[in-house]
Amino acid sequence: MSRNFKEINEMYDFHVHTYFSDDCSIEMESYVMHAIEQGLTGICFTDHIDIDYPCPEMKFQFDYSRYIDEISKLKEKYKGKLDILTGIEFGMQPHILETDKSFFQDKCFDYILGSIHAANRKELYGGDFLIDNTEKQGITDYFNDLICCVKNFKSLHNLGHLDAISRYVSKGSYKAVDFMEYIEEALRAMVYNGKGLEVNTSGKRYGLPHFHPEPGILALYQKLGGEIVTLGSDSHNPSTLGYGFAEAKEMLLSLGFKYHTIFRSGKPEFIKLT
Ligand SMILES: [Zn+2]
Ligand SMILES: [Zn+2]
Repeated sequence: MSRNFKEINEMYDFHVHTYFSDDCSIEMESYVMHAIEQGLTGICFTDHIDIDYPCPEMKFQFDYSRYIDEISKLKEKYKGKLDILTGIEFGMQPHILETDKSFFQDKCFDYILGSIHAANRKELYGGDFLIDNTEKQGITDYFNDLICCVKNFKSLHNLGHLDAISRYVSKGSYKAVDFMEYIEEALRAMVYNGKGLEVNTSGKRYGLPHFHPEPGILALYQKLGGEIVTLGSDSHNPSTLGYGFAEAKEMLLSLGFKYHTIFRSGKPEFIKLT
């Protein structure tokens, strides 16, 4: 892989939702203005596409041409003030593997963040994955889907919020140590395929004691040879842009990471952590 390293201190938020996502009503430009006020170097819009999302009321689809068009206009308008990148948060499920290939064929994204929002074709958010299922089995279903997806979704650049499953089960019933075998298998596949891992700072906004994933998982990813980590707030509101980034950077440094990563035209760029 050819490497693009930067020594200067730049900060990007690489997980931002707008009104192109079914669960958000905020205009893109609000984020741009807020990011400039906050002194961010750039943001990457990552609106949701969840093909065959298992909840009929939520489609999680957007019009690609309109998306590109609106981002292009903002890039032009705010040139020199904010580096605006075009991403997507793609909901991965094992049964849409074929769609993954065709979906990206005629589209161009700087960054493809793959996330798991369903387990065994049942949604996490509303708790459907636990209907007639034990919590342990529900979590196992989640990790089985995750392993299959990180091994097979070739278009993916980074994996989003790896342990977000902890939000959807009762307190104390998920412990990373109980699922480490699954987590390690996923991380090994990611390192082997050159895929990155997102540090999603929204975990603490959800009242968890850590970001996603928890530090032990990041340490294991690094031990296995992983070095691509992005920072994303998973904002659905401009007020949370860059949430917890100073703390996340410190945590990454303490784990021995030297760089965080952004993606441009699908290529990683490494920015020194300071
Ligand atoms: Zn997500
Ligand atoms: Zn998201």
